[in-house]
Order: sequence, then structure tokens, then C-alpha cells
Amino acid sequence: MASEQSGRYSLLSLLANAFAGQTLWRPAWRAAEPKPAYDVIVVGGGGHGLATAYYLAKEHGIRNVAVLEKAHVGSGNAGRNTTIIRSNYLLPGNEPFYEWSMKLWEGLEQALNYNVMVSQRGVLNLCHTDAQRDAYARRGNAMRLAGADAELLDAEGVRALAPFLNFDDARFPITGGLLQRRGGTARHDAVVWGYARAADRLGVDIIQQCEVTGFLREAGAVTGVETNRGPIRAGKVALAVAGSTSRLTRLLDLRLPIESHVLQAFVSEGLKPLIPGVITFGAGHFYISQSDKGGLVFGGDIDGYNSYAQRGNLPVVEDVCEGGMALMPFLGRVRMLRSWGGLVDMSMDGSPIIDRGPLPGLYLNTGWNYGGFKATPASGWCFAHLIATGAPHPTAAAFRLDRFRTGHLIDEKGVGAQPNLH
Ligand SMILES: Cc1cc2nc3c(=O)[nH]c(=O)nc-3n(C[C@H](O)[C@H](O)[C@H](O)COP(=O)(O)OP(=O)(O)OC[C@H]3O[C@@H](n4cnc5c(N)ncnc54)[C@H](O)[C@@H]3O)c2cc1C
Repeated sequence: MASEQSGRYSLLSLLANAFAGQTLWRPAWRAAEPKPAYDVIVVGGGGHGLATAYYLAKEHGIRNVAVLEKAHVGSGNAGRNTTIIRSNYLLPGNEPFYEWSMKLWEGLEQALNYNVMVSQRGVLNLCHTDAQRDAYARRGNAMRLAGADAELLDAEGVRALAPFLNFDDARFPITGGLLQRRGGTARHDAVVWGYARAADRLGVDIIQQCEVTGFLREAGAVTGVETNRGPIRAGKVALAVAGSTSRLTRLLDLRLPIESHVLQAFVSEGLKPLIPGVITFGAGHFYISQSDKGGLVFGGDIDGYNSYAQRGNLPVVEDVCEGGMALMPFLGRVRMLRSWGGLVDMSMDGSPIIDRGPLPGLYLNTGWNYGGFKATPASGWCFAHLIATGAPHPTAAAFRLDRFRTGHLIDEKGVGAQPNLH
């Protein structure tokens, strides 16, 4: 009985509940009421906020922590993304961080005692020109130098993996691809629930329906938050609100080098297993995978204007579908089931910020662009490290806020301050 009372999922707890009419389970996390003060308040109950709270408690023994979420956990991008995980980055500022995240993904289910459905079916980036192929060779070498896996495929190698692609009469012929076999997908909402449950078990208060509406300040330092459930004091206030970051920092008269944009995602009707892993088009912005339920999950560009809305517009729907049709014409016969939008925090060099805020007591975690889901474990790990020790984690040391002032940008795609091109 010990395991089900401690809330651990195991064969024993499954059997015990089967015999007890499923009455022994306890809620995955408590409905905590806010206390007057905490050591650390994490604002935002997405993957990053919950992972931060979990690692604060687990790795640093800081358990007097609250996660404040204005709606329900996972109601932001954490529950709206297309679930791709990978560590196929080029620059030294990025690659070790994303590879660390990949390693955390690989042990996450055991660490959290929760099935987050990590599925390492591979991520294949297609190339269509010799120049692109050279760039992928360079990227693959950089990945391998950082300890990640990477394979450069020629057109025949791609054909063997994905024979249904448009090889023979394509406007942009496929010349090869960069394959990361350890990349793949994870179940987005399970990740949120797994971190929430594990953090709760370590004593973290997860407080839903609690919106931060302002900040408590003393002598220039941030000393707590105002919420719709009253003021709460804190030794440290850590923002992990992704696309809402600029809305919150505006309350502190801070302007950050990020913009919020809508990013849409699409799911088709369920089909038999077809797409082996994640495939990205190199001649347009389109990527696709297939969920365990059989739906094709795909997406492309952000909507090209600043917005805090969580729904997108038709020109991007058309653009994404055109990219898909160019790559795999059979998509034209597939019926689309659902589409939705999320609010992404686009930074001006396409890379994130994990740093102390410009005010004492404030910590920032933002600028995740299209790709913060894959970063969830390492983002939480490194943000917790920074909050607990005051020093950046070595793999996230380049994600400084002042790089936009000093010019030490991490411009992974070399496109400058153009969020729509990152
Ligand atoms: C359509 C789409 C597809 C994507 N696909 C991928 C992908 O395939 N792979 C990948 O790596 N990344 C992907 N991303 C990006 C990824 O989802 C995000 O970068 C990541 O989820 C952001 O971190 P988070 O999970 O903590 O954010 P969120 O889940 O957005 O968490 C922020 C939370 O803060 C809360 N909040 C906001 N304001 C307040 C307030 N005032 N008070 C209290 N709480 C507040 C919100 O309600 C929200 O729950 C995608 C994003 C979208 C929209």
C-alpha cells in the first residue's frame, strides 16, 4: 500500500486500485490556497514555470515556492504546441543547452514517475539546394561536437525513410536532409501534468485562477506580486509567462526586446501510421508529424503582426497548406480536423532569455519563439539554478538580457531582428 499512499504510480498501485474500486488514487496536485509569503513565486503555470518550481524543490531544496497561474495549468502554449523535441542547433550559445534538455527528456518519465510519452522517432530537416546541404553538414558537425547525434542523408537516404515525399516532379527537389534520430515528440499536456504533480509532491503550491495584476516594490526591488486573490510577498519573483511577458513587465515600466505573435497549429483526421517522425520542409516554412491517435500535426509561420490573441488568420492557413502540398501532395486529400493559435514570445535574435531582471528580486525566462516546448526541462533546470544560486547555469550562460545592448546576439538563423524569419 505504501506506493499508492505516497502517490507513486506503479504496478502495485495499479493493482491495489483495481481491487479497491479505484478509490485509492489521490488528486495529481492539491488545490493550494495562496499563503501570505513565499521564498520564490513563479508566475506562469506552463511547462517552464512548473519545471522551474520542480527543480527548485528537487535540486536545490527550495520548497516554499508557489506557481501562480491565471487560468489552469497548461492553458497557454504548453498545451497548444506541436510537441516537437530536438537539439539540432548550430551556435555554441544554444546547442549545449538544447542537448542538455534532450538528455533531461530522455530520463524525464522516470524522474517524474509520469508517462510524458517521449517518442524519439527522429527529426528530419530536408534540404533542396547544395548551399542548404553544406549548411546542414556544418550544423550536423556542430551538433556532434556538442555530443548530440546527427546524420547527413542524401536524396536516396531520405527516400528510404519517407518515400511518400514529392521527389520526382517537385518545384524544389529534395537533395538530402539532416536527421537527428534522438529527436521526436512528447505529449505536451502530460509534460505539464507530470511536472505539476511532481512539484506538488515536493511541497510546491500550485495556485490556479490566480492572475498577477501588479508587483509589490520596496526601495526599487520587487518584493512580491498583486493578484486577483490579494497581495503575496516573495523573496524572489520569477516570470515564466512566455507570450505574456511584455504585458507583465509593462507593469514594471520595463520594455524587453521581445514581441508577441500568434502561431497556429493544425491537426487532420486520424490516418493509419504514415509519417515516421518529424519532417520539415527546407524550401518553405512547414513541418509535420503524426500523433499517436493518427492525426497529422503540422504548422508553419507565425501570423505576421504583433498580437496577444490566441487565434490566427487565413493567409497563414493558406501558406502552411501550400507548403504541405508542395512537399507531400497527398495532403490535398486529407481532411483537416482542428486548428488553433498560441501566443509566442519572439525575441529579436530568435534565442531565449534566462536572466535576472533589471530590478533586484526579479528573474526573467522568456523569448522562446517557435521552440520553447523542447526547452522545457532545461529551461526549468537552468532557471531554477539561476534563482537558487544567483549564477547562470553553464549551458544557459549566453541567454543574457544585456546581449541585445552589448551586441552578443545568438542569431541562430542569421536573420537579425526579424521575428517572422526566426
Ligand atoms: C502553435 C504552436 C506550436 C508550437 N510548436 C512547438 C514545437 O513543436 N516544439 C517546441 O519546442 N515549441 C513549440 N512551440 C513553442 C512552445 O509551445 C512555447 O515556447 C512554450 O510552451 C513556452 O513556455 P511555457 O510552456 O511555459 O508557456 P505557456 O504554456 O504559455 O505558459 C505561460 C503561462 O503563463 C500564464 N500567465 C500569463 N499571464 C499571467 C499572469 N498575469 N498571471 C498568472 N499567469 C499568467 C498563462 O496563462 C500560461 O499558462 C509552439 C507554440 C505554439 C503556439
